[in-house]
Amino acid sequence: MTPPVSPIVPSGGISLYVHVPFCKTKCPYCDFNTFQGIENLMGPYLGAVMQELELWGRLLEHPRVNTVFFGGGTPSYLPSGYLQQILDIARTSFYLSPGAEITVEANPGDPLFLDGGTGCEELIQAGVNRISIGVQSLNNDLLGLLGRRHTADAALEALQAARSAGISNVNLDLMYGLPRQTLSQWEDTLATLLAQCPAHVSLYCLTLEEGTPFHHWAEQGKLPTPDPDLAAEMYHHAEAELERAGYHHYEISNWCLTGLESRHNMVYWLNEPYLGVGPGAHSSLGQNRFWDVASPVKYLAAVESWASNGPHFSGTIDGPLLESIPPVDGHEFCGGETACSETMILGLRLLDGMDLVDASARAGADLSFHYQAEIRDLEDMGLLETVGGTLRLTRPAYLVANQVFTRFVE
Ligand code: SF4
Repeated sequence: MTPPVSPIVPSGGISLYVHVPFCKTKCPYCDFNTFQGIENLMGPYLGAVMQELELWGRLLEHPRVNTVFFGGGTPSYLPSGYLQQILDIARTSFYLSPGAEITVEANPGDPLFLDGGTGCEELIQAGVNRISIGVQSLNNDLLGLLGRRHTADAALEALQAARSAGISNVNLDLMYGLPRQTLSQWEDTLATLLAQCPAHVSLYCLTLEEGTPFHHWAEQGKLPTPDPDLAAEMYHHAEAELERAGYHHYEISNWCLTGLESRHNMVYWLNEPYLGVGPGAHSSLGQNRFWDVASPVKYLAAVESWASNGPHFSGTIDGPLLESIPPVDGHEFCGGETACSETMILGLRLLDGMDLVDASARAGADLSFHYQAEIRDLEDMGLLETVGGTLRLTRPAYLVANQVFTRFVE
């Protein structure tokens, strides 16, 4: 089948993000748009997401989709067959590229990984070819502190089950800079993890997000505040160990074996187009950012309202169109200065550097001219360098990248 050319999105295609707002239990550090105890909404959610995909497919005239990412929340907590049904409707509503990367986020201990990983086999049959497992730590005390429901053994079993089923492209998420976490615990976790040779590793430093129990407990003195110097030491240790093990450090928080970068996340960092469906999912199409209603209950009603009226397309994606789509809760125009700023901030997260000619074409402005003074200052400070025509963070800048990025904020 020849991919149709949508007049609305670039011929190179888009990426698709599907937000799954369900978790069996809510971790006390997490501020994502996800909920426990609303399993009664899973059936209606499935219908609404499929409906939203169908409506967007019609409105955008069935563009090519290069990557699909099921995130959350806990996609692996959905009943068997749900992800397959969502992928089936994505295939009929969009042109899913034959080599599309299709990722599912999963938690150790979920049914997917039990009984020898038969659930993983179902996913493969549905077209899933990448799994991202929320390991977080391989220390059971820290897993308990984080409110995780699984053990270190269950995390390793999940990796094994995914591989036995035939999914070799597995990412493991780990967290560092945790309250009460010691350097030696971190070293042990990394060593055990690296012995398994996962395809991809993402490392996240804990931040105490306002509104979470962790933030509250820290304010009350019930939870020690993480030590930033120790967190930096953990990051440097991981950098060295992952490099020694042959991993490519391609983004500030991400490492992979050769050629196994997350293609979906690359779309975000390169500021390329994506469509998000599901409660609170964000999208970036043309020069517009927009996001769906966050409340799952309101989302269901909004999709139903859209379905009853159908998509009415005005020929271009703009504010008036987005305001006429009930599930879209808000939007902003990201052209001009915002496009320049975002292209720099996202692109510099990629450690191989950004090609300023390509990036300028995406931003619609000559970035090396626009940010001439900022780039020169940051190079003088030893935080940026130009190598082979690309601009990149220097190694000492990785941990202070946010200070670099503030120079490019509008
Ligand atoms: S499982 Fe993941 S998404 Fe769900 S509450 Fe925990 S950290 Fe948040």
